[in-house]
Amino acid sequence: MKNIICLAILSIVIGCGGSKVDQTVRLTNPSSASGTIASEAALKTARKKGVLNFSTDERVGGVITYLASDELNGREAGSEGIEMAAKYIEGIFRNNGVKTYFESYRDTLTNFEKPAYNVVGYIEGTDKNLKNEFIIIGAHYDHIGAAEPVAGDHIANGANDNASGTTAVLEFARYFGRFGKNKRSIIFALFSAEEKGLLGSKHLAKKLKEQNLNLYAMLNFEMVGVPLVGKDYFMYVTGYEESNLADISNAYAKEKLVGFLPTAKEFNLFQRSDNYPFHTEFGVPSQTFCTFDFTNFDHYHKVGDEVSIMDFDHLALLVNKTIPVLKDIINAPIREIEYK
Ligand SMILES: [Zn+2]
Repeated sequence: MKNIICLAILSIVIGCGGSKVDQTVRLTNPSSASGTIASEAALKTARKKGVLNFSTDERVGGVITYLASDELNGREAGSEGIEMAAKYIEGIFRNNGVKTYFESYRDTLTNFEKPAYNVVGYIEGTDKNLKNEFIIIGAHYDHIGAAEPVAGDHIANGANDNASGTTAVLEFARYFGRFGKNKRSIIFALFSAEEKGLLGSKHLAKKLKEQNLNLYAMLNFEMVGVPLVGKDYFMYVTGYEESNLADISNAYAKEKLVGFLPTAKEFNLFQRSDNYPFHTEFGVPSQTFCTFDFTNFDHYHKVGDEVSIMDFDHLALLVNKTIPVLKDIINAPIREIEYK
């Protein structure tokens, strides 16, 4: 979400926290940090209690800590750091049964001066008819690289923006890759060059449109690393009033999971993240889930956007609350999500 937030932050002030995780987990085996894989039986009992326990603070902590580490140098599009992030994401796809949609997981951008890649995975639907309909679940994995130095630190680690959304999408991919049962087909897209003007999502939306993809909806995740404060809902969706996505999600969640943030409308966030190119190309519900409300995080595009201030419990809970909703949306007999 570019530019508009700078304006907003200039006009509004505040900030939040979390814990460090042993990083060995992340490099050795990205697909199965110890103790995080729940058996089907455990999942069933958890469902009865209403909250899935597939993801954990340890698991999301391991993933986001690596993505937002100094080693990746702020993941600017075209940099060595983002190349390491791409390899890491491919490893998680490969180790969790997420297939390639194109020849490889790499979708090379055609609208950026340096070599840059979206990382795209695919899980075919199980229903003979519904599998011809697609849901895209996405997030941008790039960030800006460097920012205004503070005490000698110039790396913009981009933990909240958007290693958090990337981590959530990778957890969704791990779930559907392992447990499947998705009647419609799913494309998982990690976009590059969002910070350069939504270039990765613009490229992919155009390409898939040219290939006549039968897209049902695009669900994007952006800046979900810290919880909303003082709201009666867990996360908001951009373009709330455009469609019935929030109502459908809350019906499936059996709680007010998704709400309306007036500031998001005021700053037109609907047009400021990777959902928008899919909206313009396909005209189908394409919206972004977010928990950044201009008051709960004041390190936007600053070197202070570090993993140490991310809330791992919140991020794991977001994943565990969202998976059942995604599953019900993906498996619904009809296309119930519509623009108004
Ligand atoms: Zn962002």
